[in-house]
Amino acid sequence: MRYQAVLDRVHREIQPWIGGGEVAHYIPELARISPHKFGMAVVTIDGQAYAVGDAHERFSIQSISKLFACTLAFQLLGNELWQRVGREPSGTAFNSLIQLETERGKPRNPFINAGALVVTDVLARRFVRAETAVVEFIRRLIAVPDVDYDPRVALSEMAHAQRNRAIAHFIDSFGNMRMPPDLVVEAYCRQCAISMSCLELARAGLFLANGGVAPISGERILDPSSTKRLSALMLTCGTYDAAGDFVYRVGLPAKSGVGGGILAVLPGDMAVCVWSPGLDTNGNSHAGVQALELMTTYTGRSIF
Ligand code: GLN
Repeated sequence: MRYQAVLDRVHREIQPWIGGGEVAHYIPELARISPHKFGMAVVTIDGQAYAVGDAHERFSIQSISKLFACTLAFQLLGNELWQRVGREPSGTAFNSLIQLETERGKPRNPFINAGALVVTDVLARRFVRAETAVVEFIRRLIAVPDVDYDPRVALSEMAHAQRNRAIAHFIDSFGNMRMPPDLVVEAYCRQCAISMSCLELARAGLFLANGGVAPISGERILDPSSTKRLSALMLTCGTYDAAGDFVYRVGLPAKSGVGGGILAVLPGDMAVCVWSPGLDTNGNSHAGVQALELMTTYTGRSIF
């Protein structure tokens, strides 16, 4: 597949979309990022890398970190994880509290904030610092030792984390937290503040396209069946309330974040990451979703 030619074409055609949408304002450090950034990278399981635009520049991965945290928790607990967090799309905003009341503190899935807070609780119980476990896992995946979280972004989010604190305490009130909720929220904010580039994220996601083995380290991360299951969750829940529309347009399992990044995988072939900070009303990158739609249209390749 001639991915570079496709990326170049997408980069040309996406120009009118760049700058559209709104940069996340509720985390002040993210509001400072230029909405005119755009980067996209494809890495194939046989090690070829293709990139356009700002694909080498690091940005805040935000909710894409939920994918790596969930992988670690799934490694630790296996199917027991699903006793504490569900596997259904929520159909509500990523930071919603509504379903927690009627569903008695069991979040719908691990890719909305409520579910990710339960996942972080699992990690916080097992590791001295949950966020360090996630950072070290990513470093190992891509063999890049200086990947880290940005303390300014983490502090900025912690200072405005009333909603996530409310979610964590609400879950705790139903008995679905093992660690102190405020400790869990702080670990979660640091994990969301990890900075990576499109190229690094595509490399990190490659184990999902490769049956659970990280091609760079050769390490088995998940067995093939668990890899299938995690990718299925990305497909149904990875882009929040817009998961249906995203799958219709793009046709790949993906995880997005309010930093404007989206990581998607094509099993057996490649991982792709796109970044553009302007968000649509669901919190997904406005230009990013369109760029992925163009890419799967021009390559004719998706999971369907
Ligand atoms: N850190 C953000 C939050 O908890 C992540 C949300 C996102 O990327 N959708 O609000």
